[in-house]
Amino acid sequence: MAGQRHWTGSDSGQRHPLPVWADPDVEEERLDTQGVARRGLLRRAGLFGAGFAAASIAGAVSSGGAQPAAARQGKPGGDDPELAYLVGDHHVHTVYSHDAKYTFSQQAMRAAQFGLDWMVFTEHSNFGHANAGGALAEHAEVLKARAENPRMLIFQGLEWYIPAAEHCTVFAAPGENEAEILRQFELAYDGKLLKRTEGGPTHAGTAANEALAVEAIKWLAERKRAGFVDDVLVLANHPSRLGIDSPHELRAWNDADPEIMIGMEGAPGAQGAALPGRGASSIRGEYENKPSGQSWPGYPGEAYVTYGGFDWMTATVGGLWDALLSEGRLFSITSNSDNHGPSATPGATATGLPDRASTTPAGCPTRWTPAPLSRAATSGPGSSAAPTWACGSTATWR
Ligand SMILES: [Zn+2]
Repeated sequence: MAGQRHWTGSDSGQRHPLPVWADPDVEEERLDTQGVARRGLLRRAGLFGAGFAAASIAGAVSSGGAQPAAARQGKPGGDDPELAYLVGDHHVHTVYSHDAKYTFSQQAMRAAQFGLDWMVFTEHSNFGHANAGGALAEHAEVLKARAENPRMLIFQGLEWYIPAAEHCTVFAAPGENEAEILRQFELAYDGKLLKRTEGGPTHAGTAANEALAVEAIKWLAERKRAGFVDDVLVLANHPSRLGIDSPHELRAWNDADPEIMIGMEGAPGAQGAALPGRGASSIRGEYENKPSGQSWPGYPGEAYVTYGGFDWMTATVGGLWDALLSEGRLFSITSNSDNHGPSATPGATATGLPDRASTTPAGCPTRWTPAPLSRAATSGPGSSAAPTWACGSTATWR
């Protein structure tokens, strides 16, 4: 191996090593089966080797989708040799979420094993996460996971409870303020923390809450313009799961800043929800809901389930995603894991890690004092009651 190829991972020109499969300096014999297959795919497409460049969500991740128009027009991804095709997951939870159970290191290790080149840790927002040091303690774990996986791009993110709507992935480019921007953002704009969740057609607070969501994305844009962070991205998570992301809200978020709010989950995570043992009515993506008073009344009942794992907005020909694209919007869809823990049936040990029904978290940040864990509470290092975490307590997972 002669050296290590890099790509430019942010507007500040920070350079990052390519994954081994993408690095032309790594001989093919050193790759695993997946690496060989991925390299072959890119090579057949004429996108591997000198001038390695490709259209990819990671291109959007690295540049916030802000490639100059000229770069978008040539071959996919432009001719910029610094742009790299990378495979990633923007929706992963750890013990810093009240309903997940793995450490950052464990998640990053598995992500690397299964071929991710980049990943975003998206812990659920809560007051402790923002105010009791959770976001900053989490940052130390992110730095550790980066050190353990030097070729992987690891982002610290947040699962934002959009006022009047569903969840969203929010994350910034690595840098000095990557954790602080999340902390400030959740305090100022999180629907759950501010009790600004109302979004149904008959709720008095709906219009103001929907406006707050738009303001939130504009605030991120302002922080980016001010140089507080190099870049920031927002993606709507499981958009049809509860029927509360209405078409006008999706358009308004994208309009607020189309280079920041760049898309939605087309194939939401929790794909293992329909595996045997999860219950006869369990559906891929955990889309197991019915319309409520919070839902947008225009969505039919069939919008509340997935189709081959795809969200109804994406799965429907001529549906909402097609409509957004037909309006000329660059509105991407993603697939990701929303991993909280394995979906294996109780007792299964295929992953070598405790299964989801286990009563003991797989790993615990040791500095947190053991405390009873309640799924209903905003617990974990981000607890609103106290910055404690349950290690070895008798918690029931889902
Ligand atoms: Zn999630």
